[in-house]
Order: sequence, then structure tokens, then C-alpha cells
Amino acid sequence: MAAEMGAEGYVRARPESAFALFTANDEAMGADLARHVPLSLLVFARQVVRAGELSTLAEGDRVTPIVAAARAIGTRFNGLFLEMPDTNDGKALATLTRPLTPHLEKALRKAGIDFADATAQERLHVFFVGGLACHVGVSDPAETSPWPMGIPRLRMPSAAPSRSTLKLAEAFQEFLDERSLKRLGPEATAVDLGASPGGWTWQLVRRGVAVTAVDNGAMDATLMDSGLVKHRRTDGLTYRPSEPVDWMVCDVVESPSRVAHLASRWIAEGWCRETIFNLKLPMKKRWEEVQRAREIIDTTLGGGGYFLRMKQLYHDREEVTAYLARQKKGSDPFSRGEEKGV
Ligand code: SAM
Repeated sequence: MAAEMGAEGYVRARPESAFALFTANDEAMGADLARHVPLSLLVFARQVVRAGELSTLAEGDRVTPIVAAARAIGTRFNGLFLEMPDTNDGKALATLTRPLTPHLEKALRKAGIDFADATAQERLHVFFVGGLACHVGVSDPAETSPWPMGIPRLRMPSAAPSRSTLKLAEAFQEFLDERSLKRLGPEATAVDLGASPGGWTWQLVRRGVAVTAVDNGAMDATLMDSGLVKHRRTDGLTYRPSEPVDWMVCDVVESPSRVAHLASRWIAEGWCRETIFNLKLPMKKRWEEVQRAREIIDTTLGGGGYFLRMKQLYHDREEVTAYLARQKKGSDPFSRGEEKGV
């Protein structure tokens, strides 16, 4: 993405470290890039921070160097996030940062740094890469994740038939704004391809959406009792709705290319207005597979006039989740995303 935006530089990344550092050759260009790379366009990243060089901390006083690094950036921030890589080693660091937080907050205030100024443009981040090393940086709250480490805190609903339900719950949160969420109400209709046992259908039903659940497998009996679900025991790849629906969601375990083709066909043919689908990725060449899926979608939809976002959600595993909708020329974008050919 940096190359596409004309910023030359180099990347430092270690396998399994769960983070990567990009340094632009031109410092001003790097700062500009960090400001303009919206997290929404990155598929596998959970957070993007414009970070300073590594701050080395002392065992007895971790706070002072962090405050100094923050002071060098500014005095007003829209929030304070203490983060670490999402690895086992990173998780161990949480036992260090939790007790550190009140001390750091106190020291920042004492140094005249307001980190809770809702009018400030940037949020302050302290990214720990070890017990005695961190990067202090900033992000634009409008372009980055509102949750520390990009991890949304979703509670598993006890009535939902499967843990998969959290994927669709997170997808709604990630891809849809207030207006789009309103289109997920009692007037809406949906088809759920690969629906069994019903975690995704449950998310739709709890919003009052009438769902046709397509799967040869069984659906959860309590969910069927809602009266909002019709179960079709047939092949989701060849199923067509008798009349157009508002939403199609798809969680079938199939090749990403096939699912990308299926979902974009639903949009192209007008069988649904919006779709959220999962692409199950192979262990290797995930990025290439995502790119191939993008190309298939682009070709099926005639090279433009659509809205596409893809993201490996926190609750996803070896997969990414995509949101795709038609975008009429001149109409307001009805969701945050990548406008293509509009
Ligand atoms: N989204 C579901 C939930 O939240 O409970 C879980 C779906 S599970 C990951 C995948 C489902 O896809 C399985 O129930 C399987 O039977 C179904 N499936 C696989 N291929 C299918 C096809 N061609 N047509 C319909 N369903 C299919």
C-alpha cells in the first residue's frame, strides 16, 4: 500500500511477531502515509499507529521515557491505548501494563499532557514490544480501530446456536454504520447460505429479519421456534431466491474463488442488495487468495459500481470476512468502504 501511495521505504517484520514496522525513506512522507492509510483498506491488520523509534525503559522507572516520548509528539490526545502484539509473549506483557496504567496516566497529567481531550485529532498509543521496550505513537481515531489492539469485546450470547455468531456480530460492527444497521430490521429479508446450526441466522433473527436458512445440516430448534426462519435443505451454491432479498450472508466451507463468484453473482443479478460472506483461506498464500477473490468480484460486477471491504476479523480464524454491495452512481455511500469505479 505504501508503494501504491508513492512512499518508498523498508519493512521490518519477524515471523510470528504479530507486528510489522514500515519506515519511509522520507520522514515527512512516512508521517503523511501513516495519516492516510485507513485501517479499513488493510485486510490483515487490526491497528495502525504512526510510531516513533523504540523507547528503552528502565526496570525501576518505565514511565519517564514514555512521558518524554509522548511530550515530543504533543500535549493533547484523544485517548490513551496501551497495546502489545497479540501473541503469547505479548499477552504476558499485559500483566505488566495493567498495573503500569494508573502510574502512566498520573505522570502524563503531571507533565501537562491531556490524553482525554475529545477535540484532539490524534490518540496516543504505547505499543510494548517487550518489558523494557515500547514504541510511542499516535493514530487518527476516525481511521483506526476504536478498541485497544483492535480487539472488539463481544460477549458470546448464551442463546446463540454456535460461536460463529460472533463473526457476523463483529462484521456488522466493523462494516456497517448506523444507517446500514437500520436496514437490518423487521422489514428486511435475508438468505443465509451454509446456515447450520444457525449462529449467523440468530444474529439476523434477533434484529427481526426474516431468514431463509439454506443448509443440508440441521438448524437449532429454538431458533426455528422464532417463526422467522424457513429452512431449505439444498445446495447453497445453486440455490436462488424466488424473489430478491435485502441481505445474503454466506459461511459455507468452499474455495474462496467459488464463494467470491457466488456472492458477486448475487449482487450482479440483483438477488440481494448487500452481502456479507466468509472466505476460508488456505494456510499458505492467503494474500494472493484474497487478491484473486477481489479480481473475481471485480470481473463479475463489470469493473465498478460496487462497495467492497474485506477484513480478517478478530473472531475469524483461517478466513476473512467481506462486505459487498452495489453502489449507484452519485448516490451516497451507505457504508464505510472502498468505492470502486464510482
Ligand atoms: N454460519 C453457521 C453458524 O453460524 O452456525 C456455521 C456454518 S459452518 C462453518 C458451514 C456450513 O456450511 C455447514 O453447516 C455445512 O453443512 C454448510 N455447507 C457446506 N457446503 C454447503 C453447500 N454447498 N450448500 C449449503 N451448505 C453448505
